Amino acid sequence: MITDCHIHIQPVEMFKPAALEAMKRKRPNFDQIVEFCHSANAFLKYLDRCEIDRAVLINYVAPEVIGFTAETNEFIVNYVKEAPKRLLPCGSVHPRHSQDVRKDMEHLVRLNIRMIKVHPPHQLLYPNDYLNGVQELRIIYEVAEQHGIPVMIHTGTSIFPGARNKYGDPIFVDDVAVDFPKLKLLLAHGGRPLWMNTAFFLVRRHPNVFLDISGIPPKLLLKYFPRLEEIAGKTLFGTDWPGPGVPDVHQNLEDFRALPMSDGAKHQILSKTALSIWPA
Ligand SMILES: [Zn+2]
Repeated sequence: MITDCHIHIQPVEMFKPAALEAMKRKRPNFDQIVEFCHSANAFLKYLDRCEIDRAVLINYVAPEVIGFTAETNEFIVNYVKEAPKRLLPCGSVHPRHSQDVRKDMEHLVRLNIRMIKVHPPHQLLYPNDYLNGVQELRIIYEVAEQHGIPVMIHTGTSIFPGARNKYGDPIFVDDVAVDFPKLKLLLAHGGRPLWMNTAFFLVRRHPNVFLDISGIPPKLLLKYFPRLEEIAGKTLFGTDWPGPGVPDVHQNLEDFRALPMSDGAKHQILSKTALSIWPA
């Protein structure tokens, strides 16, 4: 069973014009993306063609930079009803855009959200800002930890207009890993392309920190993480499709399979790590 832990199926209508332009410029097949965002069935057929059994569908509240409001959560929870075993919803609560963070988090738990996303460069905050007075962020981590829901944190740069890249440094996740030891933390993109060493350190240092390789061209993966095999047990396959620079899910899978790594490590990254986080 292969899981892609990082695919963006989003309410495309919510994109701000500048963010939408940034998407369209890089995507010759933008109509297909729109179709998939409207039809889970069409998207499931695409996953079949790509040999992907399950996909975690990433959504997050980021009104300033991307345009997404909290409605994105309802969107994705409804979307996955078509195939709840294959489509796992990921949502978010934004500390500055929620009236009652605890209530909103508990609502997401009731909706059976399978992961919470924190996107520092798009949400304009540091992942450890609860140490700087943003108590709402502490509540988000607490509720997730209590309910065994993993949190994915975007690490690395973003080229969307208005994104602030200082927030993308994974070192700020170190505090979160220390303060919430039972919370599973997934480092999306492994700090690419500036902070891979930090990401690798954090995965090795903290039992609760995992690596999501999405957004890294598979052909460059071992250049970025030469010792990937050592952390295979905590590494997850993901594509970040249809993000800029990720033309096709199946191509990524093929490129990943062609890497000079042991079959055991590849199987672990494609299948087993995700199954340990979201059992089938
Ligand atoms: Zn992404």
